[in-house]
Amino acid sequence: MPLLLYNTLAKKEEPFVPLEPGKVTMYTCGPTVYGRPHIGNYASFLMADLLRRWLEVSGYEVTHVKNITDVGHLVADQDQGEDKIEKQAKEEKTDPLSIARKYTKQYFEDEEALNMLEPFARPRASETIPQMIAMIHTLLGNGHAYETSDGVYFAVETFPQYGGLSGNTLANLAVGARIKVNEEKRHPADFALWKKTVGENARHVLRWPSPWGEGFPGWHIECSAMSRAFLGESIDIHTGGEDNIFPHHECEIAQSECSGARPFVRFWIHRRRIDMGDVKMSKSLGNILTIPNIIAEGYDPLDLRYLLLSVHCRTPLKFTWKNLDDARKARRKIIEWMEELEHGWVPNDRWREDAISAIEVSGWEQKFSRAMDADLNTSEALSVVFDSMSYSRSQKDRIDSSGLSELHDLLAKVRQTFGCFEAEGELDIPPDIQSLLDERSLARSVKDFALSDRLRREISARGFRVKDTNDGQKITPV
Ligand SMILES: [Zn+2]
Repeated sequence: MPLLLYNTLAKKEEPFVPLEPGKVTMYTCGPTVYGRPHIGNYASFLMADLLRRWLEVSGYEVTHVKNITDVGHLVADQDQGEDKIEKQAKEEKTDPLSIARKYTKQYFEDEEALNMLEPFARPRASETIPQMIAMIHTLLGNGHAYETSDGVYFAVETFPQYGGLSGNTLANLAVGARIKVNEEKRHPADFALWKKTVGENARHVLRWPSPWGEGFPGWHIECSAMSRAFLGESIDIHTGGEDNIFPHHECEIAQSECSGARPFVRFWIHRRRIDMGDVKMSKSLGNILTIPNIIAEGYDPLDLRYLLLSVHCRTPLKFTWKNLDDARKARRKIIEWMEELEHGWVPNDRWREDAISAIEVSGWEQKFSRAMDADLNTSEALSVVFDSMSYSRSQKDRIDSSGLSELHDLLAKVRQTFGCFEAEGELDIPPDIQSLLDERSLARSVKDFALSDRLRREISARGFRVKDTNDGQKITPV
């Protein structure tokens, strides 16, 4: 059975077939680094990580690009307002670059704690300006964009497909638009590709020269340009949270398709938002949770990973501490079973009529794969894991070598797919790794994070992953 994915553009599940056999190009809208991302942001990043893992488990070679937005994301997600990063810099009485650096570092720490795979590339918007300028230049040249006194805008009326992703129509957008803020815009839904550092943006710190004067890019053009720079004009998959659908992704499609190949993206995959109990989780409501909050309550970030992945990505998830507690218990149960099976179970190879062999066990693996192929139905996949756990435990004396080895394969597949069932048992730490760990602990105690990061990379190059927990550094073999 082929992999079926719900495509926001088609508004239905479609069989996934990549452009190039065996290879997948995938772009994920990364964080805007003006604050520590909250668990709602990670729900969407984790969905992308799960999808990538499942594609890889299924034999695809995935080129995954995940950007970092370090300029141009205005507070309202539209054309007006302050730059999120510059606003935060003012609040913290520092400069935008330090803000971007600080929160990028925190984001990397969280991603590692959540065991997310390293992408092929992590482009930063501020380092991809020439590609954005080239794209805007093309759009001006072919009549899809126009220049005003304060910037360059995309003319939505030149792209009849505008609204196809989100379901918005230009007529509705025109009616819904508030008082005309910019008299020079031809249509209220026209969006900025480039903002000149004039008028309300005159004090914008991050600015670059361009054919239209000094300025900075609009948020949407950044992802279009970074995606093209690293993955080409047409890609297989683009992911994000549902709040990215409009205007961000709608605008990305318009810019990319009017300056290059169509379609820009074949599969648009979005994660529904997560709520705090019955209330929306948002920074402005002050009810967000971060990874350090989760750790402070005594949970492993991987418990959160399990919770966020155990619910289908198109089901809104209600975060409660009780849910996280249940997730922790479920995760522990699965890890215990895996460890006991791998280290304690011996095959029964004396002939018996009712022996459980590979053929019987392979049924679970097929069911697991079928569930994942059905639009990443993780709750179903996990119920297969629990079924195979209770059955294999109750019948363990009957399992022969072939059955046991098939079970090991199932375990490996489940581990690789979910990324939160790695063994936590005691490990024989090689002396060279131990001395690097000691050095790192010393570096952290004097807050030398540059050295600490370098040592982490050194340890990882030698085959171990370091995690900082309340009880100090924990390592697992990669
Ligand atoms: Zn984006």
